[in-house]
Amino acid sequence: MAAGQRIVIENCSIATVDADDTEYASGYLVLAGNRIEALGAGSAPEGLENVVRRIDASGHLATPGLINTHHHFYQWITRGLATDHNLFDWLVALYPIWARIDEPMAYTAARGSLAMMARGGVTTAMDHHYVYPRGTGDLSGAIIRAAHETGVRFTLARGSMDRGESDGGLPPDFAVESLDGALAATEATVKEHHDPSFDAMTQVAVAPCSPFSVSTELLRNAAELARRLGVRLHTHGSETVEEEKFCHELFGMGPTDYFESTGWLGEDVWMAHCVHMNDSDIAAFARTGTGVAHCPSSNARLAAGIARVPDMLAAGVPVGLGVDGTASNESGELHTELRNALLINRLGAHKESALNARQALRLGTHGGARVLGRAAETGSLEAGKLADVVLWKLDTLAHASIADPVTALVFGAAAPVTASFVNGRQIVADGRLLTVDEDAVARATRDEARRLAQLAAQR
Ligand SMILES: [Zn+2]
Repeated sequence: MAAGQRIVIENCSIATVDADDTEYASGYLVLAGNRIEALGAGSAPEGLENVVRRIDASGHLATPGLINTHHHFYQWITRGLATDHNLFDWLVALYPIWARIDEPMAYTAARGSLAMMARGGVTTAMDHHYVYPRGTGDLSGAIIRAAHETGVRFTLARGSMDRGESDGGLPPDFAVESLDGALAATEATVKEHHDPSFDAMTQVAVAPCSPFSVSTELLRNAAELARRLGVRLHTHGSETVEEEKFCHELFGMGPTDYFESTGWLGEDVWMAHCVHMNDSDIAAFARTGTGVAHCPSSNARLAAGIARVPDMLAAGVPVGLGVDGTASNESGELHTELRNALLINRLGAHKESALNARQALRLGTHGGARVLGRAAETGSLEAGKLADVVLWKLDTLAHASIADPVTALVFGAAAPVTASFVNGRQIVADGRLLTVDEDAVARATRDEARRLAQLAAQR
């Protein structure tokens, strides 16, 4: 939508996910250009000029667009493998396959990952990409191009690995970069693609993969690089008991203390998983403002454990949700994470008081915006914020008899997305993407998955 033009959405329930959790049983939204101009109860104000479209959203719930804070897009073409392994065994089985990816595969897998999330109401996506085999082209550029074509707001977490098998790491040596090479490539990616502006569609974070695939020097230097460039830091942390043991054996301390010793706690950092955290780890995250990407489905798939999300929230830790890579979460869409965050935490220590539906929706929207450093711009429906809005259809067989719309969205089946707007532009209509051809993407991902399997088998 061009600047100065307006779209009016009326007659829907609205969950704003603002600081007061304001909701309207029946209300309106006015989108102007790429911003939310106004919203409230009842009908839209009379006399608005330049209204190019008026949407009667009866039977719908409007929410902020969902925000995914941890993913590995390339895994879209290695789904369904090593299905009965824990994290370390799963990684050892998959690294040799992943090390064969090239630019067309990275591009196609990114399109698959993005399309699946976008059609399910994700408006801001992230990709933690850390596999950069030598001589395989511009993988970061290909992933960013895919995000641009899909039309979602995007953070590329430019990953890296420099601790190969011969240095006591998990990845094979041929799949890792040199320390200097990884840092130089990361800096170049930030300089080429990172947009710091309010309505940025592309941002870049510095993101070494994990303590067991990265040297201490790379972690330290990456933290310095990110702060010099003014971008965020991301990595995997405290995912499994094996990682905890690895850190104690190599560094003489647990993962959180190790991260702190390398400059990796702070308001500009978010980490995926954070499953094995004791009280002092959670206090350190809260004290420093370090964020968490909670990935309940992946943690269950790899039998990693249950993150202490209620304790983190009580301590004031910023928490968002992550699909994680689709080699450990084949569904690849974020609604499952809203639901599983709620249900899985009720299987943990906190039982029925763990999380409620509104907290789950907050994790998937405003919480995600906080950990990506974009809470001023998106993650809630408020006048002046970016027009990232989803209309969920709740008046069909699946949801019509559920008493409350937010409960229907979170506890119920994945609701159809009637419309999803990103930056004021509609990218989904009636459950189908308007920006890319889903069927063509599906065929391309199947072909690239086969090509990768064949390449990996030749070794
Ligand atoms: Zn991950």
